[in-house]
Amino acid sequence: MKKICLNCGHHVDGNYCSNCGQRTNVERLSWKSVADGFASTFIGDEAFGLRGNNMRKSIFGTWADIILFPARSVSEYIDGCRRKYFNPVAILILLASAYAFLEYYLEMAPPSPELPDGLSALRNFNFLQYFEDYMKSNSTAYSLLTTLFIMFALHRTFRRIHSLNLVECFYFSVFMMIFSLSLTTVLLPFEKYALVDTDNIFYPVYFIYCILFLREFFALDNRETILYSLKFGLRTMAYITLFTGIVFLVGLGINSGVTLYENEHKTDSAHIGAESEQIVDADSLCRHLIGVPVSVGDSPAGEK
Ligand SMILES: [Zn+2]
Repeated sequence: MKKICLNCGHHVDGNYCSNCGQRTNVERLSWKSVADGFASTFIGDEAFGLRGNNMRKSIFGTWADIILFPARSVSEYIDGCRRKYFNPVAILILLASAYAFLEYYLEMAPPSPELPDGLSALRNFNFLQYFEDYMKSNSTAYSLLTTLFIMFALHRTFRRIHSLNLVECFYFSVFMMIFSLSLTTVLLPFEKYALVDTDNIFYPVYFIYCILFLREFFALDNRETILYSLKFGLRTMAYITLFTGIVFLVGLGINSGVTLYENEHKTDSAHIGAESEQIVDADSLCRHLIGVPVSVGDSPAGEK
């Protein structure tokens, strides 16, 4: 029985499409396909061979499609057009590295925060501050964490009107973060040289992109667009706040744990101190009993 290739629409009867090379048994996106895609990009067929057919978009072609036609590209990707696009997760990580490099080159990189040295430093260590500083100084960690918040918010907000699973929401969210990170990277030199507050440009542009993206992908009317965009935005912020709260509470827990431990430890050393005082007392008592005078610098009795 002839099947139709999900990537290029060619009629196929084997395990691979003779036109574009994609496997014919393309399954729905899963966490396994995230891992497979990653391996295939960096160590497998995409890196060494099987490239150079006309169906395949380059990394820049895929990036441009994500920026200009996000709804169309993400729905094609989710529906099985895998070989046509460069792995979006790889694009996100490469972009985060490019951003970090530009930040370093423009001497705008925030210093990476220092971990506390020793147990005592943990007592008053501000974990929340450390977390915020770490996220500011590590663009890859920041991008991936934000991608997860957006993924959960998308999954929850649109589950009634669309059957996207969590991994498909993850890819959707990766597309949004690719736009966000590209915009931040482009705005970086302006922040450095034009001394403008780029937030005033970033947020309106990013919000418009997300709203149009959601509107087209989920085929929303005007009223639904406003409603769902608000729900989605608020959910994303709520998840970020919730996570920050958890970091704060865990930090507080570690602070108090260390304080308790040290206080107990101090009580122990106080005990040892009391015992050694008692020993000194017992020692002087013995000396007193055998008639040796106790004074500083006194030589032991046996040497006399
Ligand atoms: Zn094909």
